[in-house]
Amino acid sequence: MPTVTSNASSSPSPLIIPRAEHGISRALISENALKVLYRLKESGYEAYLVGGGVRDLLLGREPKDFDVATNARPEEVRSLFRNCRLIGRRFRLAHVRFGREIIEVATFRAPHDVADNDKAAALTADGLILRDNVYGTLEQDAWRRDFTVNALYYNIRDFSVLDHTGGLADLKAGVLRLIGDPERRYREDPVRMLRAIRFAAKLGFRIEPDTEAPIFELGRCLGEIAPARLFDEVLKLFQGGVAVETFEMLRHYGLFKPMFPLTEAALAKETQGFPRTFIARALANTDRRIQENKPVTPAFLFAALLWEPVRQRKADLVRAGTDEIPALHAAAGEVISDQQKHVSIPKRFSIPMREIWTMQPRFVQRFPKRVERFLAHPRFRAAYDFMCLRAEVGEVDEKLAEWWTRIQETDDAGRQQMMRRANAGSGARKRRRRPRKRKSPVNKGTT
Ligand code: ATP
Ligand code: MG
Repeated sequence: MPTVTSNASSSPSPLIIPRAEHGISRALISENALKVLYRLKESGYEAYLVGGGVRDLLLGREPKDFDVATNARPEEVRSLFRNCRLIGRRFRLAHVRFGREIIEVATFRAPHDVADNDKAAALTADGLILRDNVYGTLEQDAWRRDFTVNALYYNIRDFSVLDHTGGLADLKAGVLRLIGDPERRYREDPVRMLRAIRFAAKLGFRIEPDTEAPIFELGRCLGEIAPARLFDEVLKLFQGGVAVETFEMLRHYGLFKPMFPLTEAALAKETQGFPRTFIARALANTDRRIQENKPVTPAFLFAALLWEPVRQRKADLVRAGTDEIPALHAAAGEVISDQQKHVSIPKRFSIPMREIWTMQPRFVQRFPKRVERFLAHPRFRAAYDFMCLRAEVGEVDEKLAEWWTRIQETDDAGRQQMMRRANAGSGARKRRRRPRKRKSPVNKGTT
């Protein structure tokens, strides 16, 4: 088994930054994280805040979550907290839950070559880590983390910060540097490539050249990652508030294709900037919502990312003689089942995603009874937002989008009037009597 770095044990003593010389104050750390740190300390264990929490606080940013590192074994952590669950087989750790907040507590890890059995550690022939549960010291733990800026430890005993890997200098310089040999570290865990992009985009950091170079080659290794894990990573990538930039970077480094091959193929066929414009707008929309602290649903995000393959597939089916609506349903089904092989989308998101797509034709049909029902549909709002995006890129008539905006804002009487006007002269009421072929929508717009 390879070690994380050969010089790990011979490295010089760490840089210790005393409390007076850094900006991390306990007032900035979540109360729950402090509770966990103190409880571990009082039980005689070492306890440190590590990872994004320390990194972001040193940068003056608000951390997304707090991670704790300790020499207590997962079972020992569990026995200290009632609200604690052990998770993960590949990387076993403790989740201590406080309402909606989860504090992740990881036991210090050692390099694999100190494993005395292969139950704790396992690597494939290609160097992919299957299990990473060999416990060690803080120093060993520092060297097997991903980036130097993620390997800073805040000690709850004296409030100092410990730096074994040069993370503080990189943090000051705005550099993202993988610890150890980048190629080997990416092969061990290809998700580290996605993490490089995520942190570079989020922090505005430069990816150090040796850390950057292997990514172009190794992107295909993402195919080895479980689709369920990639789903979590995709959410982190696109819900971090910088989705537009992240998307461009993922494509630049060849990391988008292994996760969304159908979308990448559709993008390759793009004409006049479309569908890139559509995705970029959807992502800009997501970024805006996150900035405004509004919820963003994964269903909408995936609906946008996969819309172009659905549209193209549907068009193929229609050309081959299938009717519009069945073609849309069939295309949606095919795209979903293919996508699941790469990034799996849990049913609770794939079902509403499919609805967002299959509700699109209903914006074109505006029969009075159906409009009322449609407006009351639990997924109406998401489908409407999606339709507005399509209107922005010229895929749906702008007037139709405006009509749907207005009808939501008006009262009952106004609604009736709008529907009468929309239908007047359109032939909508006579539609049922006309031959099927001539059933034209009230307004222009395609699905
Ligand atoms: P954020 O929580 O803001 O997304 P983070 O750096 O805290 O960023 P987490 O996923 O919470 O990221 O992981 C916590 C820490 O665990 C990281 O900072 C890093 O030290 C370590 N870590 C996470 N994933 C890996 C990995 N794949 N390989 C090596 N170390 C990792
Ligand atoms: Mg974190």
